[in-house]
Amino acid sequence: MINYATEAEVIKRNEIIAKARALYVFSGKTRNITDALRAYLQNDAGPDEQIELYISTPIIFTLNQVIDKKRPKCEDCGHKMKLKLHTSDINGTRYNSSWLCSFCGIEHYSDMTAIDWIKEFTDENRE
Ligand SMILES: [Zn+2]
Repeated sequence: MINYATEAEVIKRNEIIAKARALYVFSGKTRNITDALRAYLQNDAGPDEQIELYISTPIIFTLNQVIDKKRPKCEDCGHKMKLKLHTSDINGTRYNSSWLCSFCGIEHYSDMTAIDWIKEFTDENRE
């Protein structure tokens, strides 16, 4: 049985990542959010802030659940695109997310985070 992450868990994770980013990425100590999160969890995180270093499968499931009906289609081939998190383009520029067509390889980069997408798609669903 799969334990889906709740929206609150996803929000909490995002807040912790934001703190790690502020402390370790904006300060220039690292450009890698995974390294920043690792350092934050080792040095700064409170007992209620212990989260998994790598984004867990249940959070991906939650994301996919929320966005599935609104998933954009590739303008070239019409396949439904896949959301990737913490990605970088061919020049090494980092983005919070991207939409990838795994069929023809087109990728659209975005600064929106996982939680931004969840909010975006959840708000649309309320209309
Ligand atoms: Zn395509």
